[in-house]
Amino acid sequence: MRNPDRLALIGSLDQVLSEQFGDRAKRLHELSLHDFPVPKSVALSFEEVDQLADGDTSGLETALSEFGSDELLAVRISTQSQIWTGIQPSIHIGMSNQNRDVIAKQVGEYIANSIYGEFLQAFAVDVAGIKSHQTLAIEDAISDPYQKVKKLLELIKDKTGVEFPQNRKVQFELICRSIVNRWHQFKTSTYYKVDSGHSDARIGLIIQSMADGSRCDGSGTGKLTSLNWETGAPIESGHLIFYRGGNPLYGGGEDPVSSYMPGLSKKISKILSDLRKYYKDPQQIEYVFDGNKIWLLDAESAERSVSGAIRAAVDLANDGIISRTESLHRVTPDSLSRILHPQVKANTNNRIIAKGIPASPGAAVGKIAFSSQAAERIVAAGHDCILMRAETGPEDFRGMHSAQGVLTGRGGLTSHAAVVARGLGVPCVVGASDIQILPSGIGESNGDRILKTQDGEQLNEGDVITIDGTTGTVLMGSANLVEPALDEYFESFLSWADDARDIGVKANADTIDEVKSAKKFKADGIGLCRTEHMYFEESQLSVMRRMLFVESPEERKIVLQKLIQMQQRDFAEIFRQMPGHSVCIRLFDPPLHEFLPRARREMKWFADELGRDVKEVMQRAEELKEFNPMLGMRGVRVGIVMPEIYEMQARAIFEAVVEVYGEMLEPIPEIMIPLVSANREVDVVQRYVDNVAKSVRASSEVDFQYRLGVMVETPRAALRSGDLAKNSDFLSFGTNDLTQMTYGLSRDDSQRFMDKYIDQDVYPSDPFGTLDREGVGELLKIAVDRARQIKPQLTLSICGEHGGDPVSIQFCRDIGFDYVSCSPYRVPIARLAAAQYSIESQKKVAGIK
Ligand code: PEP
Ligand code: MG
Repeated sequence: MRNPDRLALIGSLDQVLSEQFGDRAKRLHELSLHDFPVPKSVALSFEEVDQLADGDTSGLETALSEFGSDELLAVRISTQSQIWTGIQPSIHIGMSNQNRDVIAKQVGEYIANSIYGEFLQAFAVDVAGIKSHQTLAIEDAISDPYQKVKKLLELIKDKTGVEFPQNRKVQFELICRSIVNRWHQFKTSTYYKVDSGHSDARIGLIIQSMADGSRCDGSGTGKLTSLNWETGAPIESGHLIFYRGGNPLYGGGEDPVSSYMPGLSKKISKILSDLRKYYKDPQQIEYVFDGNKIWLLDAESAERSVSGAIRAAVDLANDGIISRTESLHRVTPDSLSRILHPQVKANTNNRIIAKGIPASPGAAVGKIAFSSQAAERIVAAGHDCILMRAETGPEDFRGMHSAQGVLTGRGGLTSHAAVVARGLGVPCVVGASDIQILPSGIGESNGDRILKTQDGEQLNEGDVITIDGTTGTVLMGSANLVEPALDEYFESFLSWADDARDIGVKANADTIDEVKSAKKFKADGIGLCRTEHMYFEESQLSVMRRMLFVESPEERKIVLQKLIQMQQRDFAEIFRQMPGHSVCIRLFDPPLHEFLPRARREMKWFADELGRDVKEVMQRAEELKEFNPMLGMRGVRVGIVMPEIYEMQARAIFEAVVEVYGEMLEPIPEIMIPLVSANREVDVVQRYVDNVAKSVRASSEVDFQYRLGVMVETPRAALRSGDLAKNSDFLSFGTNDLTQMTYGLSRDDSQRFMDKYIDQDVYPSDPFGTLDREGVGELLKIAVDRARQIKPQLTLSICGEHGGDPVSIQFCRDIGFDYVSCSPYRVPIARLAAAQYSIESQKKVAGIK
């Protein structure tokens, strides 16, 4: 009696589940049930195959009884996941001397012997364990198929001591058992154990009648996809083997069927088109044909690149096969980063010299520069460059701006290098601890350095490397890159995402270039403009530095006057780039000492510029030094202690507003106060920002508006958000600092042990990459509740790096944020993620699965 749980008839009323019979069996069953042509097939379950491995062949007997006694058979494996096994199908099972003669009568001696010879060759290697070079020697030496068969039969007898089994049942059992043995060998192989990640994968078997058994002219087999992998264009491509005079001929490329078997072309295109409609996705198929007939051996979703996936999804929606909302789920948000930047071409041969954390996606090739100045010099000489630093600081901003890529030996996902590089859209690998920067030993005083890899290899400034910020690898030399393609399909797809999402997506952008990127990626506005980055431009940096050397507030005001104009110019340009959108400018945030020259050489230049002694510069630097700068004199504390700085910034913002007002734009700037921990800080800053606004309104006679908000990035601010809401038009959560302070975990140093923490499941993931829902998330929830109790309509958002992480976006949406703000290059990712979560949660609310 057949037990349908262990032996299923494909296309019958039996249930064929993937977890019992494997994916291929399930697909074939489905194809057959929906009237796609499938050869007669029987599926053996995983359990049945396990039993076979233990020597019980009763299932095979039952399977055989489903086929005619002289039908030739094929056996294929069916696994639950796509794992490479190297186990080819066994075909033409049942060939024997007697069968050869029967077939010869139908199709001639030549073809019958060719089929028999091929079967014997596979049998000799797979079942009899004969080395393939011995069978190939026969193949090469003898051209007559009849003689070939004779020799192979002799070889098998010679090597095994027994005659080749002429009985189909015996052949079949031996073949199935050899497949199972090979599978077990594969399971214990290094590849399987180390790389596959399928430690308990099992196989089922599919036994089929040989639909294309004739090998006559017009028969053959092939693989065909209905989609161009790279672009997603509906172009058929693949390869096929077809027979002429009993000999195989090979064809391939685009439209292979119409080139080599034109008579089948329409039929096969129709099958592909029907499959696309049935599965609501373009398919790739394995098929056999004989004369005018085609049978499917398999059909599964066509492989595709990310661009290909977008185009396929858009085409399906445009053809009415799926809805637009469904199409939005056909692409994973994170995968978009692969098409926004150049990428290392697949199968590149460049050697990996180090691995780090992928901090900003995309790949870049360039000459190594060990300093910002060197980066600028290399770029000015017309070369591309990779800025390599132990870690970066604000003084590297210009170098990072010039460089094509950034590589650091230390740091994590929210380190300076990572944050700035993402903002700039520059590929970046951080925390590549396998490499060290060492003094070269010669000319050290000039800052010469060498890069030493773990293997002891040394690279000099000017040597070429490639960094891959998508995977975190550093490659030797210049790897081939593929350029990004943002075509009409990408635009349509994301515009559909915008229609579907119910949470805003703004960009963190600090420079005009970044604002332009934000605009290109259609951000809903600027959610965070970190003004201090502007101060690292050469012209502004020296004014900032001077400001740190003056003694009194009055003198400070005079020096700051010089900055107002430059800042006003930058702000006005940002407003112009973002007409109709909000722009949120954060007041000065970093510790002051970051602006001081660090290297002695730089201090000397600066002292000369000031007309002071270098010792004075060094002393001031010493005075400004802090043991714990990230918790020291930074953020609003600078604003309280040196109000002139915030006043200067407020003035620059308002004068920029007035400037663009004349151009018929009416921006409503948002001003954000960083690192607040007490409501009183907001009171104080609000008072003098208001005063500046009044003064600019009076002098310009323009009655502009502005919104003042608080950046919630200390745990205390989160807990006191009810108070803060009273004075604020909006609250934006700076989850980089909030994570740092909630965990007591350094943004810049935690990478040293983060891998170990994640490996040992101490943390589920890096909390600087994906928001920690339990701890930081709890604080956010409390803050949202308390703030909204005071002001139900208060605008709430996130502007930490988590704002670009899909999983964190879902959380932000669920707790009621109005928008997320993230690096410009993550804006498309956030737009899609937001759309997917909006659709999902709306479905849930409506009770739709
Ligand atoms: C934050 O802390 O989350 C933030 C956005 O500010 P920054 O990264 O500049 O400290
Ligand atoms: Mg911060």
